[in-house]
Amino acid sequence: MDMGIKGRKAIVCAASKGLGRGCAEALAGEGVDLVINARTKSELEATAEEIRKKHGVKVTAVAVDVTTEEGRKQVLAACPEPDIIVNNAGGPPPGNFRDWNREDWIKALDANMLTPIEFIKASVDGMMKRGFGRIVNITSSSVKAPIDILGLSNGARSGLTGFVAGVARTTIRHGVTINGLLPGPFDTDRLRGTTKARAAKAGRSFEEEYATAAKAHPAGRFGTAEEFGMMCAFLCSVHAGYMTGQNILMDGGQYPGTY
Ligand code: NAP
Repeated sequence: MDMGIKGRKAIVCAASKGLGRGCAEALAGEGVDLVINARTKSELEATAEEIRKKHGVKVTAVAVDVTTEEGRKQVLAACPEPDIIVNNAGGPPPGNFRDWNREDWIKALDANMLTPIEFIKASVDGMMKRGFGRIVNITSSSVKAPIDILGLSNGARSGLTGFVAGVARTTIRHGVTINGLLPGPFDTDRLRGTTKARAAKAGRSFEEEYATAAKAHPAGRFGTAEEFGMMCAFLCSVHAGYMTGQNILMDGGQYPGTY
């Protein structure tokens, strides 16, 4: 299927690896020029070069912390008129809410709520004027089914989701959609890191812990960044122009509810 976005310009945040990279790769596969971002310059530039070679699109790497005002300024300077924005950043740490102070909450809100809102604010009017825009916010399945130890994520991402629900209905008339893409467990460095920590706590090997968790999942496996990226590309396509303010859960059937 031709997604109809060849030649468009996209900003993909937090994209040197994992889900962000999956989205960047899928968009590049559709002929979209990219500005990709992450903090670690060497890793980001290596990813940019691999995508250029593989897909023949223009890829600009901006190595900054996207949760800072200066970082966002640099990303937007590299792509002042984006057609597509994929909002993403690292997730907040797990823990017990009794241990979190105001600073912990502000950090989570900055990364997983206010940064995407700032990108929407900076780009949505231009997109509406030009008559086309796609914004995809990578959030988490925790928006739909909260995870007790991820209270910072449950709270900050739900705040973003509530904000977007309102705005997304005001932009679609002008060709701009805003949707959430909610990952369940995907096989990325983040998932491997949390699996390693869980294994160490339980006195098991990483391999044992990983295999047990994958087996217990309805799909019998974790998702791949490629699968995630393809769904993102579809949400950014011309075919998804009648879809806005939605939260697409991609979790291999882990959520046990009917609705
Ligand atoms: P990952 O494999 O660890 O990749 C994270 C990417 O984000 C890296 O490129 C990292 O590069 C970049 N990054 C992190 N913080 C950043 C910042 N402040 N500014 C710019 N770039 C930043 O993680 P992932 O699994 O793809 O997860 C992506 C998001 O999805 C996270 O918010 C995560 O909580 C959420 N999520 C993931 C899963 C899952 O199963 N994988 C499930 C639910 C939700 P640098 O470190 O070099 O900056």
